Amino acid sequence: MLLSKLFTKTLREGPKDEVAKNASLLVRAGYVDKLAAGIYSYLPLGILVVSNLQKIVREELGKVGAQEIFMPALQPKENWLKTGRWETMDNLYKVTDSEGREFALGPTHEEVVVPLVQKFASSYRDLPLSVYQFQSKFRMELRSKSGLLRGREFLMKDMYSFHKSEDEMRPFYEKMKEVYSQIFKRAGLGEITRITFASGGAFSEFSHEFQAETPAGEDTIYICESCDQAVNREIFKEKMKCPACKSDSGAYREAKAIEVGNIFELKTKFSDAFGMTYKDETGIEQPVIMGCYGIGIGRLMGTIVEALSDEKGIIWPEEVSPFDIHLVGLTAGAKVFYEYYTKKGMRVLYDDRDVSAGEKFADAELMGIPKRLVISGKTLKEEKIEWKDRTTGTITYEKSPL
Ligand code: ATP
Ligand code: MG
Repeated sequence: MLLSKLFTKTLREGPKDEVAKNASLLVRAGYVDKLAAGIYSYLPLGILVVSNLQKIVREELGKVGAQEIFMPALQPKENWLKTGRWETMDNLYKVTDSEGREFALGPTHEEVVVPLVQKFASSYRDLPLSVYQFQSKFRMELRSKSGLLRGREFLMKDMYSFHKSEDEMRPFYEKMKEVYSQIFKRAGLGEITRITFASGGAFSEFSHEFQAETPAGEDTIYICESCDQAVNREIFKEKMKCPACKSDSGAYREAKAIEVGNIFELKTKFSDAFGMTYKDETGIEQPVIMGCYGIGIGRLMGTIVEALSDEKGIIWPEEVSPFDIHLVGLTAGAKVFYEYYTKKGMRVLYDDRDVSAGEKFADAELMGIPKRLVISGKTLKEEKIEWKDRTTGTITYEKSPL
């Protein structure tokens, strides 16, 4: 892509009303734009990042056989009355159309997915199965000062699994912990993301959160010194036995963290509400056991920026970066390098703009593509090329391939 053709422009300073580092950098670099508190547009560069995150998630969820669908955000009130959440969910956006029909703007999708899957799964032969989607969710969040970390409209990957029994569900749930760990590792957060025991609400003793350790986090977690898994503050007690490794040393380290994903056992809460059952081998109706698995895609993007950026700008992990190479062209001769690396299958952003070298370098740091390639009159003359690693800042020279 030619940077001169990109319709967005970088900004020297973040918007005055933006206090969150993630949003400030992402707005400055042209990834997102703020419409209102907790409501953002994704721009061409931002969409590339989201697509990369979606690719990682699709590949990893494919390993457990989950199937992708897309459900409506506009959801009839009747479905929400059935689960009781029309009244009990206090952050629900409710809309009424001109004919008086009432809807919820989906903050989550159990009210849609259960009656949907119920139409197809009625026998033991149909289970287990799992479905997921990428969807905009709507929540009346009171605190919306954290940029992409807490949106009022935000992109989530939500997945739901349906099982014949708890015994069948348990190994699947354990497998999902590995799948999630792999997703966050590929997203560049492997080092700082901890599986965290949280209260399971009405359904089971624990749910599990994936908490990325960073000072920007709203959550407080206690990381077990023995196993590196953690306990959320809400369920933590001094000297408690670690629920993960059972160590009773009582040695925990307190840290701030961002919940980038979570997995829950729903048991029969939602299948009961919709009367979803299946016929077992002997023809008897049995309750369907469910699990749900969320990842905030926008929040994940914001967390990567919070955790990995430096004073000059964003630093994308390789698999998340919108491009492989940021080619800073300081001479018209740079164009053939753009063509060369593009032909080799690399995703190249070519800064062909008519602006100063200093501006090009500053924008390259701000945008955060892992590898910067400089082609100038000088490098051409010396028949070499200059690489700079965005993470380490290391500059290396190579013989020019052209
Ligand atoms: P939180 O406690 O942070 O409000 P939650 O428990 O409400 O999160 P879920 O309803 O389980 O979260 O949603 C699944 C995932 O969606 C979360 O793990 C998080 O990554 C993301 N998420 C939740 N709320 C938001 C939000 N307002 N903005 C962006 N992402 C969110
Ligand atoms: Mg919430």
